[in-house]
Formats: sequence, structure tokens, C-alpha cells
Amino acid sequence: MFKLVDLPYAPDGLAPAISAETISFHHGKHLQTYVDNLNKLLPGSGFDDAGHSGLDPESLLKEIVAKAPAGPLFNNAGQVLNHEMYFLQFKPAGDAGSQPGMTKLHQQILSQWGTLDAFKEEFAAKGAGLFGSGWVWLAAEKDGHLVITQEPNAGNPAAKGLAPILTFDVWEHAYYLDYQNRRPAYMAALWDILDWTVLEARYAAR
Ligand code: MN
Repeated sequence: MFKLVDLPYAPDGLAPAISAETISFHHGKHLQTYVDNLNKLLPGSGFDDAGHSGLDPESLLKEIVAKAPAGPLFNNAGQVLNHEMYFLQFKPAGDAGSQPGMTKLHQQILSQWGTLDAFKEEFAAKGAGLFGSGWVWLAAEKDGHLVITQEPNAGNPAAKGLAPILTFDVWEHAYYLDYQNRRPAYMAALWDILDWTVLEARYAAR
């Protein structure tokens, strides 16, 4: 049984980038529904058998995303994985905002984009340009090369054999209470609450 992931910050800890009201609906209602649906769909799906029972929850979700056909199981497992990665990559901004250290991930970004700002600009443009509901991702190939992908609906780059590192949820439910239709303003605010330590750990574990 999957459980709703605990948040490592207070409900108002990410404000004003993400308000407590948005956290209450997005984490408490939307994600809870995906978790409940997934728990109903797993029994008898072929992903709850002995071949999968030893997997930790995140690995099981990635296995489903990589192997399940399009449909309700893929959608709900993808949305649980995507939202867990989304919510766990944030931390309260504090006075200093959010800056990466000179980590391997940061160095790889600089080697491919030249500057952190140039990377942010392309990432934001791909998020803004994603038609309808979905996710914009930074993902890594095995050799460390980075790619930005646009994934519609419940998509995750793990389905393409890439390691997911960073994501902005661009479903309207992620920002409508705080920003209404202003998706770019919502994305611009997320850079201030990124926990680069989490991103670096994902990159190292690719
Ligand atoms: Mn969402």
C-alpha cells in the first residue's frame, strides 16, 4: 500500500511561491486521490507479485512507469511518482533564496548551457510551451548528459530510460489558486524554493 508522502516543511513553509492553500489542495486532495486510485489498481496488475515485492516504493513506481501500458495504472503511478519528486525537491526559501553549490549537477548544467540563467530560461520556456496539462523535466542519461523534456499528463522521463532530476508541475491545479492563468510567474517563483541538495542526490544516483 502506498501512503501519502509526508512533506519535509510546514504547509505555509513555501509561501509565497506556493501558498498553504495550494499545498492543502495539491498535496492533501489531488495527490491523495492518485495514491488511493493506485492502491485500488495495484492488486492483480502484475506489479504486486513476487517479482516486484522486494522493490522500494520509488523503484516500483519507476518500474510501472517504464513498463505499464497507457491507462489508469500508468496514469496514477506516474502521478504519484511525479508529485513525490515535485514536493520533495522544495524547501523554505529563507533569506538567501536557493543557490546550487559547485556540485556535479551544477557543473554539468554550466557545461551544457553556459550559465544557470540560460538553463532556467530554456526550462521555463519548455514549461510555458507545454500545451495543456503535464510536466517539464530535467533528466539525465546514464553518462550524466542532461536533457529537458516535456511530458504530457502523467508522463515521466523514467519511461524513456532517463533518470528524472527536477520537475515543475504545470497542471493548472498546481498554480491556479495562487497565480490564476500566469503559469510563467508560478514557474519563476519555484527557483527560490528548490532544494539543490535533493537534486544533486538524484543526479548522483542516476
Ligand atoms: Mn499536480
